[in-house]
Amino acid sequence: LQFSSRSQLAGLYQLQQEAPRPKRITCPQEVGTPVIKSTDINQVITQFHGMISREYADELLAGAEGAYLIRESQRQPGTHTLALRFGHQTLNYRLFYDGKHFVGEKRFESVHDLVTDALITLYIETKAAEYIAKMTTNPIYEHLGYTLLLKDKTVHRLSRGRTEPRRVTFQKDEKISSPLVRRSALKDTPEKQCSYEKIHNFKVHTFRGPHWCEYCANFMWGLIAQGVRCSDCGLNVHKQCSKLVPSDCQPDLRRIKKVFSCDLTTLVKAHNTTRPMVVDMCIREIELRGMKSEGLYRVSGFSEHIEDVRLAFDRDGEKADISANAYADINIIAGALKLYLRDLPIPVITFDLYSKFIQAAKIPNAESRLEAIHEGLLQLPPAHYETLRYLMAHLKRVTTFEKDNFMNAENLGIVFGPTLMQPPEQNALTTLNDMRQQKLVVQLMIEHEDVLF
Ligand SMILES: [Zn+2]
Ligand SMILES: [Zn+2]
Repeated sequence: LQFSSRSQLAGLYQLQQEAPRPKRITCPQEVGTPVIKSTDINQVITQFHGMISREYADELLAGAEGAYLIRESQRQPGTHTLALRFGHQTLNYRLFYDGKHFVGEKRFESVHDLVTDALITLYIETKAAEYIAKMTTNPIYEHLGYTLLLKDKTVHRLSRGRTEPRRVTFQKDEKISSPLVRRSALKDTPEKQCSYEKIHNFKVHTFRGPHWCEYCANFMWGLIAQGVRCSDCGLNVHKQCSKLVPSDCQPDLRRIKKVFSCDLTTLVKAHNTTRPMVVDMCIREIELRGMKSEGLYRVSGFSEHIEDVRLAFDRDGEKADISANAYADINIIAGALKLYLRDLPIPVITFDLYSKFIQAAKIPNAESRLEAIHEGLLQLPPAHYETLRYLMAHLKRVTTFEKDNFMNAENLGIVFGPTLMQPPEQNALTTLNDMRQQKLVVQLMIEHEDVLF
């Protein structure tokens, strides 16, 4: 089966229209209650034929594409088999029910919907098997460019900013095909600071009405769960295409509702900043009026006020008022910054790299230890690295006021260790065992901030 590029958009859609429609084969007499307790029990009862043989089911369905019935399995009494006529043969599926009906991954409200979807899938995947296998080889994604897909959105050049560490991530980006058109389209956009790559956050999605894949331009077939949608930017693609889409997700502010507890890279990309604005704003405020405050970051602010700051950021973003007029006590701002860092779904020092840093801290030789920490830092995602670099430079400045604020690299390490580093699997024992190393990592990052970053 071949589609020309002009009919490509219609091709698979046409096939879905042609797919055989389901035909219920009802049982002439009532043969008892099906074993499944279903919400559409009445519907199921009429199609339930009791324990009939495969051969007899075959006879009942014979000749009619799309005909189906439900029987009790002879081999496994108490279980149900869906017998479905397709491609001039009878296909038998074990039918499950757990509040919804299913034979595979997709779950349906009714058996009829399940059969409708199965017939579409079988029909398209049989008729266009070769086409489907190849449909991702010539994606429109590159030709259209992400700029066009996202219309009014600014796309940033995927070039390396000056403040970013020497790392391999962006070389990787070069390897993901070379979308010439996309690149040239991007040349005209003014260079922005935020150039981090971000993977899409794809979730299985049920589309209402016909939808076409934004990667390969083909129709997304089926009755439900036809494809996946990125919950951060709204990109819609086939499940098989989702594996090929480059890591160039540009989150949409309309989809990113919160500031706290939002993934760090997602937040900075959505707001087009180098670092989370919470970090910048809190640090600015603290440097303005809090550097000499005794026990800065150690003394906790009133937790209800800290919660207020969190709500203000979630509600107003960079317009949140955290000035002295709003919160006279600087410990509230310091507390909000700590809360922000602690509540990240992926900590600043990521779960992946956690043990690398813990191991580094255990190295007895001071120089090798720093070397190992440096190596770990270079592997952090750029937005995480940049946030950490900025925070450490700030904390270093905090220590220069030690005679007023009584804070040095060591006690800041105690405060920020568990805030910046959390083990991938939280349990009381690892938390206790790693505390010394967590403190040491942060302490060393503050002390050697100038050479490490
Ligand atoms: Zn996305
Ligand atoms: Zn696709």
